[in-house]
Amino acid sequence: RAKQHGRNGYSFFKPELQTHYVRTLQIENALRHAMARGQLSVHFQPQHRLTDDHLVGAEALLRWNHPELGNISPAEFIPVAENSGLIIPIGEWVLAESLKHLLVWHGMGFTDMRVAVNLSAVQFRDRQLLGKIEALLESTGVPPQALELELTESMTMQDPESAIQIIARLNRLGLNLALDDFGTGYSSMSYLKRFHLQKIKIDQSFIRDLSVDGDDAAIVNATITLSRNLGMQTLAEGVETQEQRDFLRQSGCDFVQGYLYSRPLPADAFIEYMTHCRRSVP
Ligand code: C2E
Ligand code: MG
Ligand code: MG
Ligand code: MG
Repeated sequence: RAKQHGRNGYSFFKPELQTHYVRTLQIENALRHAMARGQLSVHFQPQHRLTDDHLVGAEALLRWNHPELGNISPAEFIPVAENSGLIIPIGEWVLAESLKHLLVWHGMGFTDMRVAVNLSAVQFRDRQLLGKIEALLESTGVPPQALELELTESMTMQDPESAIQIIARLNRLGLNLALDDFGTGYSSMSYLKRFHLQKIKIDQSFIRDLSVDGDDAAIVNATITLSRNLGMQTLAEGVETQEQRDFLRQSGCDFVQGYLYSRPLPADAFIEYMTHCRRSVP
């Protein structure tokens, strides 16, 4: 196929390909120093219970601000971090940082707050993951049930039998597990039953057109019913409008997260948000 394009059969060095390659290299190099140079931070997006709007916790979302490259989206740098192995130290840092902030919230009296942390497939397969999490829970004194880890369908379905083992060990630590971006990958119903996860996060692509697209509404309702019958709770991601929230509430979805409530916030702004929520809503 290459022969059709390049004069000598080489069409590999298309300008846009080269630009992409250079950008990836640039990001990888910059990422090696990002942590030590204090360019990384964790933002927190509120999660609310639908029955009474109670703030139950937050999802930790990684942010990277580079002095020359500016704000780089996790959608762009997480894959680079995964391919280079940098996701291991970075992922550990996110976990430690999230627990540190959670302890601050608990210390302020918000003792029922939880934090949800995204796990990469590389971390999930890391044989030292369990030991690292256990050590971190022990050294911080965070109650395990206040920590939730977010897995994705692709990382569990890649090798479902070993995923079952890893999930069982994580469950034994007493923490909670959520399946992120549900519906965008492929899940087998029989494995879903055997995974023993506590929560399913319905992907925002099904929420976006909820009020106009009957198919999305059907998928969301089916997911909520399925989750409940398998003993799991549901959280809808990317909720931006009152209509979406009303639909989800009627459908019996348990939790929501989205711009309707708040964008992901820097740690200090999140504390303000939390303090405000708890003052105005009993
Ligand atoms: P995700 O885990 O599915 O996170 C939800 C994404 O949706 C976040 O994007 C969040 O800012 C965005 N979002 C939340 N509410 C709304 C809304 O109402 N409307 C819209 N349009 N978007 C909304 P973000 O922060 O850019 O993160 C993108 C992805 O990067 C995450 O998707 C996650 O897969 C990954 N990621 C972020 N932080 C980490 C991390 O610490 N570790 C790992 N492994 N992955 C991370
Ligand atoms: Mg997530
Ligand atoms: Mg998601
Ligand atoms: Mg996503």
